[in-house]
Amino acid sequence: MYSTLDWQTAIETPSRCYHYNNFKSLLTVEKNLTMGIQFQYGIAISKFRLSNHRLNIELGRYNNVPKENRICYFCQQSNNANIIDCEYHAFFKCDKYDIVRQSYLFIWYVHGTERLDFYALLSSQHPEIVKYVSIYIYHLMNAVNDI
Ligand SMILES: [Zn+2]
Repeated sequence: MYSTLDWQTAIETPSRCYHYNNFKSLLTVEKNLTMGIQFQYGIAISKFRLSNHRLNIELGRYNNVPKENRICYFCQQSNNANIIDCEYHAFFKCDKYDIVRQSYLFIWYVHGTERLDFYALLSSQHPEIVKYVSIYIYHLMNAVNDI
């Protein structure tokens, strides 16, 4: 069990949980664990927040690929762009997930797509936002894992 200070130090370590540090600022139980959303959606958002996924930012970590080389192959091939394949890129930016994003995020979310918007969505305590973000992430991670 972490003390608050140990936990803060652990999440500030840059090698992992880079985004986590920005959407988990308080040592509290997450809303998705207590509000009774469907099990698979709660699991999906928990795994996403904890970097338990198959995006290259995490796969590269297991294969000792330098962080700057953990790029999105889709964007490299389609746009000749070298962009880190991280949670934020998949969530808001990558064209590969446009259909999922249009179907499960942009049908209810009409605000910005900058990093701060990403952190705001992932740290929201509003039950409806937690529910709809969880559903979107469930489908997004299915799309990531299908490839
Ligand atoms: Zn991409």
